[in-house]
Order: sequence, then structure tokens, then C-alpha cells
Amino acid sequence: MEAAAATDGRTAAEVGWHVSRYNLMAKVPDNKNVVIANLYKGSCAEYTPIEMFLLSSFDKLAEDHPIIERFARRGVICKLDERAALDALGRASCAGPGGVSLTICPTMGCNFDCPYCFENHRAGKMGEQVQDDVVALAERMLDASGASRLDVNWFGGEPLLACDVIESLSVRLMALAQERGGTYSAGIITNGYLLAQDVVDMLARCKVGSAQITLDGLGAVHDATRHLAGGGPTFERIAANLSGLKIPFKVSVRHNIHEGNRHEVDELKAFVEGLAKESGNDLSYYTATVSGSEVADQRGRQVGLLCGADSVDLSAVQEAESFSSGRGSYCGAHGIWNVGIDALGNLQKCWEAVDKPHLAFGTAHDWDPARPFETSGCADNLTMFLNTACPVPDGECCECVWLPLCVGGCPYKRLFGERRCIPFKDDPERYALALLARLNEQKRSKSAESCG
Ligand code: SF4
Ligand code: SF4
Repeated sequence: MEAAAATDGRTAAEVGWHVSRYNLMAKVPDNKNVVIANLYKGSCAEYTPIEMFLLSSFDKLAEDHPIIERFARRGVICKLDERAALDALGRASCAGPGGVSLTICPTMGCNFDCPYCFENHRAGKMGEQVQDDVVALAERMLDASGASRLDVNWFGGEPLLACDVIESLSVRLMALAQERGGTYSAGIITNGYLLAQDVVDMLARCKVGSAQITLDGLGAVHDATRHLAGGGPTFERIAANLSGLKIPFKVSVRHNIHEGNRHEVDELKAFVEGLAKESGNDLSYYTATVSGSEVADQRGRQVGLLCGADSVDLSAVQEAESFSSGRGSYCGAHGIWNVGIDALGNLQKCWEAVDKPHLAFGTAHDWDPARPFETSGCADNLTMFLNTACPVPDGECCECVWLPLCVGGCPYKRLFGERRCIPFKDDPERYALALLARLNEQKRSKSAESCG
């Protein structure tokens, strides 16, 4: 068979179309089609054998052949140098518009002692002087960026050990955003143990719109890794909080999967769905694989990390679930308007570094984003993170088909000598098929909804 070539006029290749370097392909198991996921455009669709034939010889097709438009819309063919575009997008992400985002640790202390925790905990909470500095910093960042959006993420340690700090700082930061006619939003990462109705109500007044709470399994399986500092179970109380409290914001229940709890994925998912039904709370379940950490190593308390096929399978499904219509997102560590603040007012570019004062780039008291390097106590700690936004100069990432999705992996790991590649890097077919399965599932539930 021969594709109908351009007879007069120009061919697709002559006007600059070429096949994207970021296509992943896999044979669909139940038919003769091929799925193509394009990572630059963020598309995924099935193609028939005829369409695949046309793709194999598309450069000879007339530039106005109808299939050109279909391939181009999905990014399967393109006219631009996608790698150069990714390079430019990476650079732009450092100072890109949007909001000012503060990850605030009102305390670095924690009431839990999870073996895989990457933090060194310190007792004590944020004092009044540091709180004043945080508000002044937010003001300087809004001024310098021109942003009208202020986003806050409460982190720690366990932030609910310092509810008074969350409340008083929220009132001031919300007022600051309002004075400027801007918007304010907040989220919290908490272990969920100290939630109570008055705490939930306070968080809602403080415009907390989402929370992340971890359950590592059911009952004793959870308690084996998520126990109180000094020992003691936590599962029953967290589950009772999730089902018994009226929580007016979304809660993502994170399941940190490791060797010891991987068998409970389906059961825990069903348990969380049951809690949501029973309570009417907006609870959703998601998985994350546990990664190794230097701090856990030092304490000799690393849990069994998933590796090999288990990790590949879970990660591919997990990643496919979060695939949206765009490329992978840039880590907050890349952006100048994203800042982490510990309880002493030290500024960090990365959550994993938030307990490590030697990686701080400045203080909430002194840092002025209008003169970011002159006012940094350690400008190199700032520039090294910002520069990870451009993984293209790295030879291996530059040639890698996963670059739009992975954006060079975790900046923190890369800076400290560990390339954190996508776990399913060598199995692109698996990811393309996981994506297709997810899209088909979405279509099925949409059509069930419209029939219902
Ligand atoms: S609850 Fe969070 S901060 Fe506390 S020990 Fe566990 S992982 Fe670390
Ligand atoms: S970190 Fe690994 S998977 Fe990611 S772009 Fe670089 S080489 Fe590819």
C-alpha cells in the first residue's frame, strides 16, 4: 500500500512537519490499534493500522491531508523544536507569573516518629518576631512579583502542634491578600492525629481548602510505620477523625507504599471510600512510593523500599492517574516565588531541605526578592535550585523521551548526586497502556453519568 502523495503543492515535510521526539507507542492488547501518548502535548489516543501507516509515511503526504491536522492537534507531529521549547519553558518557570507560594512550618516538632521520615525534628514553635517577618516577607514578595494570589501550605513537623501560629498568621496573611484585592488559598499536610472539630473549624475559617493525611495501611499495618513518638498506635484515632468530624474541605489520603504494606492497596482504597460515604466528607485516596532518605539512613530506620517490577507497575499507574492535559509540572524548587520557611524563619527552596539550616538561602527577616541574591545569606543555595529548572544541558536528560514529563527528576536529588529517573523509564509501553486504561475508564464513567 502506498500513501497518497502530494501531487502538486507541498508535502507535509516540505512545510516543516516532523514526528515528535516525545511519542510513546504501544500495541493495544485487544485490537490491532496502537496507542500513542505524546508527552510534550499531553495527549493520548488510539490509532488504527491505516492511521499508523499514514504516520509512517506522513512526510510524503500533501500538507493539507486531513490526517495531518489530527496528528498535529495531538502533538504526534509538530513544527517546532520541542527540546528548545522545553529549555525556554524551564527558564521561564523560574520567575513565571502566577502566585506567591509560601510553605510555612509553624513548628519542626512532630508527635509521630515515622521510620522513613526525611526530617530531623526540633521542638518549639514559630515565635512572634518570626511571624512578623513572614508577613513582611509575603508583602515584599507580592510587591516584587506583582502577583495577586497568595497560596500558603502549612507543613512541618506536624503543623497542628502549633494551631495558634496557624490561626494568627492566617488572619494576617488573609488580610494582606484582601488589602491588595488578591486571592488567598491554603492547604495543610498533617498526620491527622490532632484533628478535632474545633481544629477543623479553625482551619476552615483560615481558608484551608485541602488537606493531605497519610494512612499507611489498615490498623496494625499503619501503626507499624505511623506511630507516636515514644510508641503508640494512631490508626483508630485518625480513621475516627476522618469519619466522625464534619470536614468542609477536601482531604487526600496518601498511602505511602513500601514492602510491608503493598498488599493493602485495594483494601485501603475501599476503606477510604467507605469512610467518605459514611461521613459525607470529601476524601480521596492516592498512592505514593516511599523513597529513601539520608536522615532515615542515619537513624538506621529505612523501611523496605519497593523496587523492580512492583515499583514500576505502581508508579506507572500512579503517574497515569495524575496525567492531565499538560506536560509534567515544574517543581516549586525551581520558582523564585515559591519559598519554604522553617519555624526559625530560615528560607528554603525544597521541602526535603526544610530541616537543614545549612541549605537555607536566607531568612524571612532579610530576604528581599527585589534583590534576591544581594539579600540572600547564601545566594549559591538559591541559584543552585533555580538552575535545576533547565535539565536540557544534562546530556542524558536532553536525549530522554521522558523529559517533558519528568523535567529532570527531583531537583534536590539531582543536586546531591542522585538522578531520580522515572521508575518505569525503560518501559514506555507500560505507561502508554496505563494512560489508555485511565482514559477509557474516565470515558466509561462519563457515559455512565450521562445515562444516569
Ligand atoms: S508525621 Fe510526617 S513529619 Fe512526623 S515523623 Fe511522620 S513523616 Fe515525619
Ligand atoms: S531524570 Fe532520568 S527519566 Fe528524567 S529526563 Fe533525566 S534521564 Fe530522563
